[in-house]
Amino acid sequence: MIYLDHNSTTIVHPEVRKLIGDITAETLNPSSVHASGQRAKGLIEQARRQLAGLVGIEANARDYQVVFTSSGTEANNLVISNFNDGDIFISAIEHPSIFNYLQYQAGIKVIKVSSEGVIDLEDLSRLLAESSNSKKLVSVMLANNETGVIQPIKEVVAIATKFGAAVHSDCVQGVGKIAVDIKELGVDFATISGHKFGGALGAAALIAKTKYHLKASIIGGGQERGIRSGTENVPAIAGLGLAAKLAKDELVSRRHKMQTLQARLEQSLPPAAKIIGEGAKRLPNTSLVVVSGFVAETQVIAFDLKGIALSAGSACSSGKTKASHVLKAMNIPEDEASTAIRISLSHHNTEEEIDTFIDAFKNIYKLRNVA
Ligand code: PLP
Repeated sequence: MIYLDHNSTTIVHPEVRKLIGDITAETLNPSSVHASGQRAKGLIEQARRQLAGLVGIEANARDYQVVFTSSGTEANNLVISNFNDGDIFISAIEHPSIFNYLQYQAGIKVIKVSSEGVIDLEDLSRLLAESSNSKKLVSVMLANNETGVIQPIKEVVAIATKFGAAVHSDCVQGVGKIAVDIKELGVDFATISGHKFGGALGAAALIAKTKYHLKASIIGGGQERGIRSGTENVPAIAGLGLAAKLAKDELVSRRHKMQTLQARLEQSLPPAAKIIGEGAKRLPNTSLVVVSGFVAETQVIAFDLKGIALSAGSACSSGKTKASHVLKAMNIPEDEASTAIRISLSHHNTEEEIDTFIDAFKNIYKLRNVA
């Protein structure tokens, strides 16, 4: 199979797989006092340092803490739920783990984006100026999972700071693909998920400035400094740590490989294909492609039959034919949005795979007479 759906989940690094396999054979509960408990604790703390190292902070230093969670979704929920007594401002293109809060919590304000999928900073300022609540949170993702468009987070932080608002950035799709420095971005909170950059499913983190005293999301034995109880998923967390170390060591070469493959792919697409957000700064691995007249789900099946895995719009919304809220926010007409397929690459892909994809693409469209 040719796998071109790495924004959905990517390959677990072989070294991570080995580590997880080995650790799973041990009895590791970090809350236990005996030697194996202490070893488990050591593994968790090492992972915390490794993850912190990937994103430019020191774990357990005075300024930031790393709270391990089970998923990026949980980390996003943790931060948003901590501001449910404040005013919350989210971009119109957030992942459903933030965007769908609109269905459950009244009063959340949505910040507009441009037709290229970039946050409208004037709209952010206008919305913040209207708020009289002393507790405010702005949540803007670093890079969009559907389009790959990168957001101007430093500018968001500069504006939010003027209005006394805290800033959260969902960095799930950026980490491992581009350099992410939490300190330099200046955000108060950031979400990271291991299975997007070579870790296993089941381990993610919320990074938070220590000056915020987060309310617990899960009550129990007081793990993760009481913020997130439950016996830690030691194998997955240790795997996340190793994946972070490897991603840091290999970032430049991985990014270069992805960029080369992305350029090859985008330059070979037939003229009838349009890349969404093409003029904006994008991740080096994500291309959202529309060709009018061919519903995305039909394309995904046609590619699947040729042994190529990709998704219709966001993986998180595949299986549903509902138009993507991201493309709606970008004012892309529904008939065009419904044809969007997402090709998301990794450094594991090869030039031959890209060429096979392009051949399949041309074939599928020729059969359908749309290009
Ligand atoms: N945020 C973004 C931008 C994502 O793309 C995803 C998953 O696709 C998530 C959050 C959720 O992460 P997880 O799959 O770890 O719950």
